[in-house]
Amino acid sequence: MNPTYDVIVLGTGGVGSAALYHLAARGLRVVGLDQHPPAHGFGSSHGESRIIRKAYFEHPDYVPLLERAYGLWDHLGKAMDRRDLFERSGLLQIGPADGVVIPGVMESAARHGLGLEQLSETAVREAFPQYRLPEGCEAVFEQDAGLLRVEACVEAYLNLARNAGAELRTGVVAHHWRASQRGVAVETSSGVFQSGALVITAGAWAPELLAGLGIPMEVRRKPLFWLETRSDAHLLDGGCPCFFYERPEGQFYGFPELSAGEGVKLACHTGGELVADPARVNRELDEADLSKVQRFAEEWFPQVGDRLLRHKTCLYTMSPDEHFIVDRHPEHPTVAFAAGLSGHGFKFASVLGEILGDLIVEGHTDQPAGFLGLNRFERQTKPS
Ligand SMILES: Cc1cc2nc3c(=O)[nH]c(=O)nc-3n(C[C@H](O)[C@H](O)[C@H](O)COP(=O)(O)OP(=O)(O)OC[C@H]3O[C@@H](n4cnc5c(N)ncnc54)[C@H](O)[C@@H]3O)c2cc1C
Repeated sequence: MNPTYDVIVLGTGGVGSAALYHLAARGLRVVGLDQHPPAHGFGSSHGESRIIRKAYFEHPDYVPLLERAYGLWDHLGKAMDRRDLFERSGLLQIGPADGVVIPGVMESAARHGLGLEQLSETAVREAFPQYRLPEGCEAVFEQDAGLLRVEACVEAYLNLARNAGAELRTGVVAHHWRASQRGVAVETSSGVFQSGALVITAGAWAPELLAGLGIPMEVRRKPLFWLETRSDAHLLDGGCPCFFYERPEGQFYGFPELSAGEGVKLACHTGGELVADPARVNRELDEADLSKVQRFAEEWFPQVGDRLLRHKTCLYTMSPDEHFIVDRHPEHPTVAFAAGLSGHGFKFASVLGEILGDLIVEGHTDQPAGFLGLNRFERQTKPS
């Protein structure tokens, strides 16, 4: 085999676009393959915005990676002259003291010395009159949190990667990959691509492309809704923060209105119908999903109406423990992957791209990402 490329990046969405850049910036000959053109609406990286936050309730070990991710997002914004990619709107998190979110946020903040404000009910009413505090709940405000403009971030990383010499091939569906000591071959709808190494960042298609790992991953259908506002209280430019509420009926999150008239985007983080084939997900409006977020908004957001302005459908790819899986392939060390991002991975895309570059080039990473490795699972198939 005489490979045309040093590295193929299979999937150029959130993480793949960043990996493509980090590999090209190291001077490697790299090609990104994707079935869809950049920043499309068929995977997991669309719908305008993603929350980014540091006081990570899911696990304090993510915080050092977030410190690096923040720096890399700032670098991307500066390099592309797009200061609006990362809007530091702040984030208001609300939930019971004995729930999952507030204790997790407090633990991460304490362990890593992060600045947070605990707000009384009066303080919430005065500072954020657009959000109501349910009885028995606590409120915590993280100023250093905010939102990433998701499609613009993917496009920015792809442009930066191309500026650094990367090639991007879209409309290319990868069917299979195989790796041997002589290199990697990816069979696609446009022929076979050959390289020295492979990065798999295929989002909701990763369970299929990485089936040989023997780690069960589930894909879930996740709807997003934009509801109209009754005033300008929710405007980003007016200082409205993102929100995350833990309620008995689920965890709800959302964003300020990015421009007047666009509405407030909100969604439910928990639950979601299982998807058998990510290419055939039902993208129709589901009235039961809509009424769940309408009921939530009616109860806690006095300035949000129940008229739906837009909706979109997105995909979560869940790992068994809902933490990411980032590693080299145990049987094929020239293959590295990031999979099972479990509905909270976009904020990390910048640093995961760098880590994948490290794994391919150095064989290891200095970033503290060992807790995301494969060895925490018992694999369900015998190595091939
Ligand atoms: C509704 C919703 C809300 C979310 N909110 C947040 C949030 O607020 N904060 C946060 O940090 N994270 C959030 N997430 C999670 C985050 O968006 C995802 O974890 C992240 O975007 C996943 O990136 P990815 O690169 O793994 O997948 P994707 O961006 O989907 O990229 C995978 C790419 O691989 C391509 N591909 C796959 N298979 C093939 C193939 N065989 N051939 C060719 N191309 C292929 C696909 O076309 C796609 O472009 C949310 C996710 C959803 C769905």
